Amino acid sequence: MSTTTDSPRHASLPLMVLGHGRELATERGVECPGELPAPSDPGLVERARAAKAALGNSVFVLGHHYQRDEVIEFADVTGDSFKLAKDAAARPDAQHIVFCGVHFMAESADILTSDEQQVILPDLAAGCSMADMAAISQVEDAWDDLVDAGVADDVIPVTYMNSSAAIKGFTGRHGGTVCTSSNAKTALAWAFGRRGGLEGTGKVLFLPDQHLGRNTAVRELGLSLDDCVVFDPHKPNGGLTREELQAARMILWRGHCSVHGRFSLEAVHEARATIPDVKVIVHPECRYEVVEAADEVGSTEKIIKTIAAAPAGTKWVVGTELNLVRRLATQFPDQEIAFLEKNVCYCSTMNRIDLPHLVWALESLVAGRTVNRIEVDPDVAHWARVALDQMLALPGETSKD
Ligand code: SF4
Repeated sequence: MSTTTDSPRHASLPLMVLGHGRELATERGVECPGELPAPSDPGLVERARAAKAALGNSVFVLGHHYQRDEVIEFADVTGDSFKLAKDAAARPDAQHIVFCGVHFMAESADILTSDEQQVILPDLAAGCSMADMAAISQVEDAWDDLVDAGVADDVIPVTYMNSSAAIKGFTGRHGGTVCTSSNAKTALAWAFGRRGGLEGTGKVLFLPDQHLGRNTAVRELGLSLDDCVVFDPHKPNGGLTREELQAARMILWRGHCSVHGRFSLEAVHEARATIPDVKVIVHPECRYEVVEAADEVGSTEKIIKTIAAAPAGTKWVVGTELNLVRRLATQFPDQEIAFLEKNVCYCSTMNRIDLPHLVWALESLVAGRTVNRIEVDPDVAHWARVALDQMLALPGETSKD
């Protein structure tokens, strides 16, 4: 399945009940065909073990940090999305890559692995709301707006890993790069460097997470909040005047993570008021004011490493996905680890991948059927690979999410 289907100019993405109906224009995917085992089936763990044993080295199961424990238990390797895609590419003997994560991650794995390897997403409804916020037709329209405003020649697009293959392909075609939450500063510095550096007139179109773009540009590169404008794809010309586009250095796409975007400044204040000596650590997909108020900011890999390296007795409140925070609390019992915001829940689309879907995908392979294969259109994959290779050529580390 490819995610390259276009929709009309400035069309809203239709809301859809997850797992029902077909909506090929979005990251949300389609319902799974076939008979899934019941979640209440007491034999699910045994069935998953038996199927995995039967498949041996021909299957490689990847588990993103935000996955449920019941799924992580069967992962051959865990990590962030980019690390997992690279892990898959390093296992050419594995004919089937079962990606326990969300759709854009499986697409990246398909792009980075060989044609002989098949990438499987156990539930096609496991999309990403942030990636959904930038449809390729909207981004192509936005580029036309930048051309009309006379600024497109100054603009380098940079897209976050959390975007569809079509958006990565757009970025590759327009001489840009992909970035992760670990190397966003390096990627932005590279992009501005292509247009005369920070002192020049260059601009970055940052997709699709406005918060990561703003946090990086202002906190790490020294640009001001006034240098940033937000391009709203649902408004004509992004809701911006020609003068605003000409003056801007960072054109931030109006997208956000529906989990990290919910952490609030009030929650940071409440944690500091109720937990003496607490350290607040958050992901850079959080809003600017939340990141500014935190003690530490970093990708999931950085959050894990920072907590692992802290002395016993350290008190943390953590602003990232709840499955990971709970696992960290179990993994490091000598530290006090709490979740930052009581009103924030799991990433609902990540949680679409559960044991029944994993068992169904594995048992189907045992029966000789590949279900829910993710296959990126070859032309899209080519240009997305150009943008990914550009990221790999950036100096510094490239782990993300
Ligand atoms: S946590 Fe946010 S960015 Fe990550 S998959 Fe869920 S919605 Fe997307």
